Order: sequence, then C-alpha cells, then structure tokens
Amino acid sequence: MTIKADLHTHTNHSDGTLSPDELIALAITSGIDMLSITDHDTTLAFEDLRAPPELRVIPGVEFSTTWDHTGIHVVGLGIDPFCDAMQAGVNSQRAVRRERATRIAAALTRAGLPDLWSDACERSGNDYPGRPHFAAGIVASGKSRNTKHAFRRYLGKGRPGNVKTAWADMNTVVDWIQQAGGIAVLAHPARYKIGRASLHTLVKDFVDAGGQALEVISGRQDRPVTQALTALATEYQLLASGGSDFHSPEQRWLRLGLSEHLPRECTPVWRHL
Ligand code: AMP
Ligand code: MN
Ligand code: MN
Ligand code: MN
Repeated sequence: MTIKADLHTHTNHSDGTLSPDELIALAITSGIDMLSITDHDTTLAFEDLRAPPELRVIPGVEFSTTWDHTGIHVVGLGIDPFCDAMQAGVNSQRAVRRERATRIAAALTRAGLPDLWSDACERSGNDYPGRPHFAAGIVASGKSRNTKHAFRRYLGKGRPGNVKTAWADMNTVVDWIQQAGGIAVLAHPARYKIGRASLHTLVKDFVDAGGQALEVISGRQDRPVTQALTALATEYQLLASGGSDFHSPEQRWLRLGLSEHLPRECTPVWRHL
C-alpha cells in the first residue's frame, strides 16, 4: 500500500493563509493520510491542535539557517514541539525574525517604498512578519505587480529587503531537531541558487551536522530534478522526504500531496515516523 503523504506545509502561524484546522480539513478532503505541518521557525500550530482520527499529523518545523552566505531551510519531522530544546530553538529564531523584520522595513523605505512595518505586522498577526508579508504589502501599495515581482525587485537574493540575518547555524538547528526526537531534512535542495559542486558540499556538511533526509520531491518539479535528487540521496545514504510546500489554496497550481511518487530507489522517511 502506498501512503499519501505531504511532509512540508505551512499555516497562518507563519506565511501560509489557512489555520491549522483549515489545513487539516483540506488534507482530509484531498485524501492525504499523513500530513506534516512545518511552519517557518515556529511550532505554534501545535498548541491547540485537534487532529481527527483519519489523518496522521506529524509535528514539524522548517528552520531558517545560513550556509556559505546562502539561506538554507532545514525541516524537522516528528519533533516534540513542546520539549525544552525545541522551545529554546523557536524562541531564539523568533527573536532573530523580530529584529530582522524591523531592518527589512527600514531597508524597504530606503529603497523608496512607503513604511510597510504596521501593514506587514497586520498581515502576519504578530510583530515578526516575514518577507512574504512585506511582499503582499508591496503589491497592495501598487509598487509591484505581484509577489514574484516584489521578490525579484525588493526581497530576493541581492535585493535591499534580503537583509543579512543571524540565523542559528546548520549544526545548531539540526541539533534542536534531534534533541526534540525529530528527523532533520534538507528542504527543497534544488531551489538554492548554488552550483552543483556547492550543493554536494552542502549535503556533505548537512550529513556531518547529523542530517538524515533529503527532500527529493518539493512542490511541482520536473522529472530530471527528481532523478538528480534521488541520486544525491542515494549517494549520501539519506532518507527521502517529500512535500508540497503548500502555503495557500490561492496558489492554484499547487495541490496538497506529492506531485509524483518517490522513486523506488528511495527509502521514504515516513517509514521512520
Ligand atoms: P522568510 O522566511 O521571511 O525569509 O520568507 C521566505 C518565504 O518567502 C519562503 O518560504 C517562501 O514562502 C517565500 N518566497 C521566497 N522567495 C519567493 C519568491 N521568489 N516568490 C514568492 N515567494 C517567495
Ligand atoms: Mn514560506
Ligand atoms: Mn523553504
Ligand atoms: Mn516551506
């Protein structure tokens, strides 16, 4: 029996639009058996979560880190969201996010945009908005046509709103995940703007840090990418994970669940969850 899993999703506790309950309801109508909620640097989705019997909800998190000047994401699956190590981790990352958000707002005004601080906080519902919340404000102000353009011009790599951020390093985030009893997964490896050789070095460093799995399928991706990531997982003896990286039903091209089966050569991470 193949299970229908989605091990990378977001709620409105980070930059998604659905509440945890709404996401769970959508997962059930989408026929998902196993869902991991992996919000950016927060475990708030698990505070008062009601998981119905027909769906296995795997507590997760997606930590932001920096590796060789590149922003890298590490997903933790099967964590105890409330243990001391995880709480210390998310609290420390939240402080980093809060401080970063004020600098993003300042950098954007210097770049000629209106002050978007309170607008972004309103969108995130807290005082640590992320780049997508600023992107929405930029679009609403009429300065960019859509989110993609807002990132390209103001928030993406090399742009003013992509401020230098002191995230915890890769060893530390992997450590938090492992101390919380979880499996550390290198998220969407094909999405980093680094070359092939650097990607290998990244995976090697990730393994040395204690990383155990690679996200072989992320969202909708081309078959050659899946094949290349399968080869990478095999070479470094990593378990294979997969997720949609779902943020919102408004992303009409993206459904919950995996866009294709994990290739046979892979050892699915869900066997260990
Ligand atoms: P942050 O965690 O605040 O740095 O925001 C990162 C998030 O922004 C990612 O998880 C994506 O959801 C979103 N994002 C990053 N790049 C883009 C892009 N080019 N277009 C749209 N959304 C993006
Ligand atoms: Mn996101
Ligand atoms: Mn990510
Ligand atoms: Mn994500």
